[in-house]
Amino acid sequence: MEIKVLKNILDANNQIAARNRARLDAQRVTALNIMASPGAGKTTLVVRTVQGLKEKCRIGVIEGDIASTIDADRVAREGIPVVQINTGGECHIDANMMSTALESMDLDKIDLLLLENVGNLVCPAEFDTGSHRKVMLLSVPEGDDKPYKYPLMFTIADAIIINKIDTLPLFDFNMANFEKAVRGMNPAARLFPMSLKTGEGLTEWLAWVEAQARRS
Ligand code: MG
Ligand code: ZN
Repeated sequence: MEIKVLKNILDANNQIAARNRARLDAQRVTALNIMASPGAGKTTLVVRTVQGLKEKCRIGVIEGDIASTIDADRVAREGIPVVQINTGGECHIDANMMSTALESMDLDKIDLLLLENVGNLVCPAEFDTGSHRKVMLLSVPEGDDKPYKYPLMFTIADAIIINKIDTLPLFDFNMANFEKAVRGMNPAARLFPMSLKTGEGLTEWLAWVEAQARRS
C-alpha cells in the first residue's frame, strides 16, 4: 500500500517535471540540478560556476533550503537573478516547488539555470525537478563508500564532482575504489575531481557546464 502511494506521488511529480522541462526548452534554458549532502560545497560550487561563466552566458540560480536565505544572499552578491525556495521542512525540491520558482524567474533573460537542491543524498535523487542534467557533489571527508550507501543518487547523476581533494592526505578516501564503485553503477557519468578551495579541476567543470548550456 505504501509503495503504491509513493509510486502515485512520483508519477504526479514526473508529469509536472516534464512540463517544467518543456517550458525551459521553449525558452532555451538549460537547467542543472545540483545535489549533495549538507556541507559538501554546493553553494561554493554555484558561486564559482557563476563567477567562471557569467561573462559567457546569462545565469539564474534557484536556492532550495529548508529555512533561511543565507545561501541565496551569498549567490545574489554575484549580481545575477536568484530565487529562494524555502521548503518549510521538506528535505528535497520537487517538481511543484520548481514550477513555482520558475514563475519568479525571468526565463527570457537567462541561458543557464542552476538549482541548488536541499542538502540530502536520498530523496532529491527520486524527485525529478525538470532539470536537464543532474549533478552530484561528494566531498572527500564524507568517504569513498557513499556510492554503495546511496546508489540511486550515484546512478542517476550525469556528472559527479569529488570536492575537497586538497584534503585527500587527511582522510582514508581511496579514489580508485570510489571510481570503481561509481563505474559499476553509472559508466556514463562524468567525474570531476576538484578542490573548490584551491581551484583545482574547476576549468574542466566550467567547460562541461558551458557545453551543456550551448543550445541552438
Ligand atoms: Mg548551500
Ligand atoms: Zn525529501
